[in-house]
Amino acid sequence: MTQKIAVLPGDGIGLEVTAAAVKVLERLRADFGLKIELESAPVGGTAYTAHGHPLPESTLKLAKQADAVLLGAVGGPQYDELPRELRPEKALLGLRAELKLFANLRPAILYPQLASASSLKPELVAGLDILIVRELTGDIYFGEPRGVRTLANGERQGFNTMLYAEHEIERVARVAFDAARKRSKKLCSVEKANVLETSGLWREVVVRVAKDYADVELSHMYVDNAAMQLVRAPKQFDVIVTGNIFGDILSDEAAMLTGSIGMLPSASLDAANKGMYEPIHGSAPDIAGKGVANPLATILSVAMMLRYTLNAAVLADKIEKAVATVLDQGLRTGDIYTPGTKKVGTVEMGNAVVAALVK
Ligand code: NAD
Repeated sequence: MTQKIAVLPGDGIGLEVTAAAVKVLERLRADFGLKIELESAPVGGTAYTAHGHPLPESTLKLAKQADAVLLGAVGGPQYDELPRELRPEKALLGLRAELKLFANLRPAILYPQLASASSLKPELVAGLDILIVRELTGDIYFGEPRGVRTLANGERQGFNTMLYAEHEIERVARVAFDAARKRSKKLCSVEKANVLETSGLWREVVVRVAKDYADVELSHMYVDNAAMQLVRAPKQFDVIVTGNIFGDILSDEAAMLTGSIGMLPSASLDAANKGMYEPIHGSAPDIAGKGVANPLATILSVAMMLRYTLNAAVLADKIEKAVATVLDQGLRTGDIYTPGTKKVGTVEMGNAVVAALVK
């Protein structure tokens, strides 16, 4: 069966890195038997300029029809003055909501070849490979009531509500347990159950779901401790599952352990494992159009797409091996360059990965 991939390059370096990732997909289609159909559409500022909206109907329709979405990045200073609902970033929220993407998977992998890029000691992070599964559609970011009210004494008070229903916890827990099963079968659930009732329920539901995953070793950690452990001894973790706000913070912390934003992919999944795949970086206006952006995060996002949505784990492994090969060859874009290696641009790096794919 041919699967359809919607390609939404977006803005800035999104256009450049997506072009490199598409070449990888085309090589897999031509030489490795991957049955896919690719269709592109504008999103973000590019879409606003062309159609007057960052997420035009036609783009949303394509994303909904597709089996998977590959997204570059959106945003740029030229759009900062637009009303909030027309800003490029609004397209991302719209896609997440419309596609019902509730689980965000962010690996933090530090290739041994790049250990010196981290701000931590190389021995603490070399070979780091953790996966953070963050709930994406609930929690204090969406909970009602919310707002700013005026108290009887005239002082203003801001308030938000942390909310999680059992089914929301259960479905993201299952995604995390399933992911742990595909890795080293260790899952750490992170919350603040010593203080928050919502977290107490979170822990209860995760323990209940764990009964269906007897082969996965489950542990629990308070979020403040998890933040410390991530910089003290990050390799103790394999898969972490957590709520929206804790995951927002911890996944950025984990990403920075690797010191190379241009290397990190992400996936956002719905209940049927349909997903949107994108690098974690933004549109990088400072380097856009210069041909120097690192395409590896987007290429590794394609590997995640093959693993989680297209059921082609063997091809995912091949992409990840090809990335390791080009790093072994000493090829580096500017963001990961160190003296003694060879500096290359986006196109050269992408082509090197395509060439390194082996049957
Ligand atoms: P950014 O990730 O775009 O850039 C941060 C820094 O990292 C910059 O110095 C940039 O040059 C560098 N960088 C990022 N990706 C790189 C790559 N692949 N190769 C080499 N260097 C890379 O973050 P920012 O500067 O805070 O945001 C720029 C724009 O992107 C803003 O409009 C922001 O809203 C948007 N943004 C979009 C997304 C998304 O589309 N998912 C995510 C974050 C930010």
